[in-house]
Amino acid sequence: MPTFDYVVIGGGTAGSVIASRLTEDPGTTVAVIEGGPSDVDRPEVLTLRRWLGLLGGELDYDYPTTPQPRGNSHIRHSRARVLGGCSSHNTLISFKPLPGDWDEWAQAGAEGWDAGAMDPYYERLRNNIVPVHEKDRNAIARDFVAAARTAAEVPLVEGFNQRPFHEGVGFFDLAYHPEDNKRSSASVAYLHPFLDRPNLHLMLETWAYRLELDGDRATGARVRTKDGEELLVEAAREVVVCAGAVDTPRLLMHSGIGPANDLEKLGIPVTLDLPGVGENLLDHPESVIVWETHGPIPENSAMDSDAGLFVRRNPESSGPDLMFHFYQIPFTDNPERIGYEKPAHGVSMTPNIPKPRSRGRLYLTSADPEVKPALDFRYFTDEDDYDARTLVDGIRLAREIARTEPLAGWLKREVCPGPEVTSDEELSAYARRVAHTVYHPAGTCRMGAADDREAVVDPQLRVRGLRGIRIADASVFPTMTAVNPMIAVLMVGEKCAELLGATPRNGGEA
Ligand SMILES: Cc1cc2nc3c(=O)[nH]c(=O)nc-3n(C[C@H](O)[C@H](O)[C@H](O)COP(=O)(O)OP(=O)(O)OC[C@H]3O[C@@H](n4cnc5c(N)ncnc54)[C@H](O)[C@@H]3O)c2cc1C
Repeated sequence: MPTFDYVVIGGGTAGSVIASRLTEDPGTTVAVIEGGPSDVDRPEVLTLRRWLGLLGGELDYDYPTTPQPRGNSHIRHSRARVLGGCSSHNTLISFKPLPGDWDEWAQAGAEGWDAGAMDPYYERLRNNIVPVHEKDRNAIARDFVAAARTAAEVPLVEGFNQRPFHEGVGFFDLAYHPEDNKRSSASVAYLHPFLDRPNLHLMLETWAYRLELDGDRATGARVRTKDGEELLVEAAREVVVCAGAVDTPRLLMHSGIGPANDLEKLGIPVTLDLPGVGENLLDHPESVIVWETHGPIPENSAMDSDAGLFVRRNPESSGPDLMFHFYQIPFTDNPERIGYEKPAHGVSMTPNIPKPRSRGRLYLTSADPEVKPALDFRYFTDEDDYDARTLVDGIRLAREIARTEPLAGWLKREVCPGPEVTSDEELSAYARRVAHTVYHPAGTCRMGAADDREAVVDPQLRVRGLRGIRIADASVFPTMTAVNPMIAVLMVGEKCAELLGATPRNGGEA
């Protein structure tokens, strides 16, 4: 193997941005180690509306959670195994993080990551971020928007990224091409136009199982190719770990970087005692309320969940504190497990917690790098029960919206939890038992001030205590963004590329 200037581990959402930006300089060589195959010419990946079909399939690492005594122990955390990472199988809802999201990071010690400093990175994004196209605006989603506007007394928002908001309802912005419903994922926007760059070396279906260290300096990664060949891929300048909120801490810990006691118990030789690795596991938990409709719903849509609602219950909150996705399908996977039936035609509202207070933890259970790590989200364990109460408020508000025209006329009956479930206790029990994830794990290698012992990376994204290695992906989030996090991850990628010395050429997706 030749030595590359940079070895990027994970050609996912942030990794695609970084590899693309670094190789704009023809004198810089980059190897991308990506566990999954290419997404080029794969319509089942590139067609946004087919996203649900990818979950649980061969392109999904599919991580279970540990038992959740106060939540749902059956949640499967989908993580994409394909170029572009989760941006190749997610719903591409695109929110510029709210100013309060970034300012919270700066207050947590991420100096230079405040809202003012982060604005320019949004402008750089190459993805085609546009509001859901008129032709994709389903009649029932339009009527949800109108009813929610009245029932929740929030403004109609046309273009959530135009200006910061505290509340509002409307159709989302998506990173897609409305004319053919093609994704504008990280790989489509940042890698596809540049696959012929001689300085960009993509190693697909290749798994990095250990970081290579020389003393306190990272020099590369040990990888296993599709054919089972084991190679050392070396970096002359830096290793950039972009394996995502699950696989980045997993790789660090298998390389002896993490909480020393835990690693020693598993027989993993400790390279660096870094207690924060795997801690601060964040997510956006959600619940679901489902209605049967009087008949079939029109077919048109971008990806079956095209509109949403943000509410700020507490005027002191820096941003929204309750969010809904509206689904034009009956989303009954979890309710069915506890005995509910799926109606032939139906819709769902999925209230979620923009700023959840429960904190989880990811840890290894074996020294074998093949064994999946344990994900203990500790859902609904916050002391004052804020998270569960938020979902109860969400279900109550969902019912008000459902009673309001023009949505009310479409709905035949509430299927789950069902109109007989009314008390706070019953609603909380239901909401937690059928709880799901919005698939936003983050925070497991959190960024903090250089002298913060619990932080894993400093504000330059450098792993504390090591040289020649940075992390750039959802794992560095100190706190959860109130909005869906993909754009924040892309912006982390852009900022990391700049920290590495790239001077980005602007320009939209080719
Ligand atoms: C179903 C679903 C829907 C979602 N919808 C939205 C949405 O609409 N809007 C939004 O904002 N967010 C959404 N999200 C969340 C968002 O997609 C993620 O937060 C974001 O894409 C994470 O980016 P990342 O760079 O951290 O990781 P990823 O994009 O997951 O990239 C990690 C990459 O690393 C590779 N990899 C991992 N380990 C190794 C290894 N050891 N060796 C080699 N390669 C490795 C993986 O194959 C993957 O390609 C969704 C997520 C899912 C799963």
